[in-house]
Amino acid sequence: MAVEVLLERVSKTYNQGAAEVKALDNITLRFSGGDFKAIMGPSGSGKSTLLNVLGCLDKPTTGIVRIDGVEVQGIPPGALWQIRGTKIGFIFQNHYLIESLTALENVMLPQRYAGVKRSQAQQKASELLEQVGLGRRLHHRPSQLSGGEKARVAVARALVNDPALILADEPTGALDSKTGMVILELLHSLRSPERICLIVTHDRSVADTCDEIISMRDGRIIEA
Ligand code: ADP
Ligand code: MG
Repeated sequence: MAVEVLLERVSKTYNQGAAEVKALDNITLRFSGGDFKAIMGPSGSGKSTLLNVLGCLDKPTTGIVRIDGVEVQGIPPGALWQIRGTKIGFIFQNHYLIESLTALENVMLPQRYAGVKRSQAQQKASELLEQVGLGRRLHHRPSQLSGGEKARVAVARALVNDPALILADEPTGALDSKTGMVILELLHSLRSPERICLIVTHDRSVADTCDEIISMRDGRIIEA
């Protein structure tokens, strides 16, 4: 069954000292398999919060999130962790690679958590690293890699479990344009009717490669 993610009247409020910030303000959105969309908007408009809520990393203050019809709020933490690890691939702005592990081990990790055998995990991880042009960096640690290389390791790690939902928060933001293109092409190569890919970007040329651009402002979706 193809993946479907539904947000129903979702709001997320943060308390900043005495002030309340509505990072998400009554958002209703539906994504289904085959979607390949960009999310744009000024800094502070709620883009990262939206991805975090979609990726079950953060809970809405009010409203409902459903993944494949199941209300996320009602899923026990253990099962939610399982969903995050196997269904969702998150590419973060600042990578969060594990410094004590090599590139290969970083990419193996989500598979190991998902119960994949070591040899199989190693095979898949090295194939993916090869694909993103890091075949000769398998045994380097993050501190021994350039910014662009770290970003590519992070992308490989996000994709290694064949996630149905790919959430990328400015995946090309910190990269030179050539590396950015490699990442973007890799994401495009994963397009499938069984997969949703959402890319937050500041870059209009990146957004224009997507099928639709969702524009945000002040925690709301603004109509094009
Ligand atoms: P964007 O990714 O579009 O730049 P964010 O989703 O990061 O925007 O933030 C939206 C708003 O929510 C901003 O005003 C930001 O300051 C606020 N915000 C985000 N995360 C937190 C947090 N953990 N605590 C308090 N305020 C937050
Ligand atoms: Mg952000």
